[in-house]
Amino acid sequence: MEKETAVHSGFDREHLWHPYTSTIDPLPTYTVESASGVRIRLADGTELIDGMSSWWCMIHGYGNERLNAAAACQMSRVSHVMFGGLTHTPAIELGKALLEVAPPSMHNIFYADSGSVAVEVAMKMAVQYAVAASGSHEKTNFATIRSGYHGDTWNAMSVCDPVTGMHGAFGPALPVRFFVPQPRSRFGGEWHESDIAPLEELLKATAGEIAALILEPVVQGAGGMWFYHPEYLRQARRLCDKYGILLIFDEIATGFWRTGRFFAWEHAGVEPDIMCIGKGLTAGYLTMSAVLTTQKVADTISRGEAGVLMHGPTFMGNPLACAIAVESLKMLREKPMADIVAHIEAVMTEELAKARDLDAVADVRVLGSIGVVELKRSVDVGKFQKECVRRGVWIRPFGRNAYIMPPYIIDDSDLRTLCRQLIEIISDERNY
Ligand code: PMP
Repeated sequence: MEKETAVHSGFDREHLWHPYTSTIDPLPTYTVESASGVRIRLADGTELIDGMSSWWCMIHGYGNERLNAAAACQMSRVSHVMFGGLTHTPAIELGKALLEVAPPSMHNIFYADSGSVAVEVAMKMAVQYAVAASGSHEKTNFATIRSGYHGDTWNAMSVCDPVTGMHGAFGPALPVRFFVPQPRSRFGGEWHESDIAPLEELLKATAGEIAALILEPVVQGAGGMWFYHPEYLRQARRLCDKYGILLIFDEIATGFWRTGRFFAWEHAGVEPDIMCIGKGLTAGYLTMSAVLTTQKVADTISRGEAGVLMHGPTFMGNPLACAIAVESLKMLREKPMADIVAHIEAVMTEELAKARDLDAVADVRVLGSIGVVELKRSVDVGKFQKECVRRGVWIRPFGRNAYIMPPYIIDDSDLRTLCRQLIEIISDERNY
């Protein structure tokens, strides 16, 4: 008999809008009572092994004692204070810690409140830089690659994939950007020179209009969970330099060891001019992001007509979030993270390889602690998740991609269970 689960049907279903959800026919939601380590506990006592890190961010798992203590300690001093005209030790300590792990040319840090806002800020920086550097308002558009995802706010949406992203719903309301095809050379595979040709052609023709090229380095996340060849980034850097365009790396999903390196740019060894980070920054405890840039970009903006960067959110540099991020970065420094993520990668590579034999599966790929099973058809998320909950795992696919990216503290037994349950679920098409 199917176990009772904590599917919510009352107020939540009636009044609370969940992500990308209909109010008429909402997907089921399960009530979480608590969570610790890699376990999410539902109201009816069901325990789920977390395969999602709550959308990339719970890197140390739930309810970590050191992070709880850091939060409590900071809360006893000051939880929030405006960043205009005031500063504090957690913000300064976090800045120092970030510069230790960021690309060496990063020099100035802007704290923002979410990944999408970080992308907005990065795009504003690029426009303000281009205007200040060229003295004209011609170079204010953006180039990007297809199948990208950069967030849900207006400008972030405009550089998401025009088909799989939100362009369909917003149409002409969105600014029109320049898109080139997604690089098809796989990470770990052969580099095909033809991959870069469309970008060269585009920049040659439109460099006078473009402030920056924005990319998710190596791993494209919500736009298709695709891992591409780092040579693309080296070539993109070369072309941006050649045509006088800034390069923005959106490391919001890829940062904090998710791809097996601290940041994904390290796979290519080329630095961006502007970099966005978020998600794992506070280990999933609070919403916070940051935009890092070079002194050249920052000072050029500051010498421009406005004289300042035109952004300043209420919760900028929130002390509680900064204090937690500082502690999380300490934990990452103390652990052999390269080995930990390499081990997760090895286990997932071994386990998920078994999915390749299934008729329903189009591709399997693993990089760092991201394991993707791409299916031949789209998944019914509600059905799929019901089966997950029945089996004690938490995996949330989208489109044709079912993927696992667990907290780094997961042990082999839980990780193998996640992978095996995923394969069993997709083995029977009635489950999705
Ligand atoms: N950029 C990337 C690469 C992301 O994966 C996301 C979130 N999925 C965002 C930006 C937006 O971040 P947020 O949801 O915190 O606004």
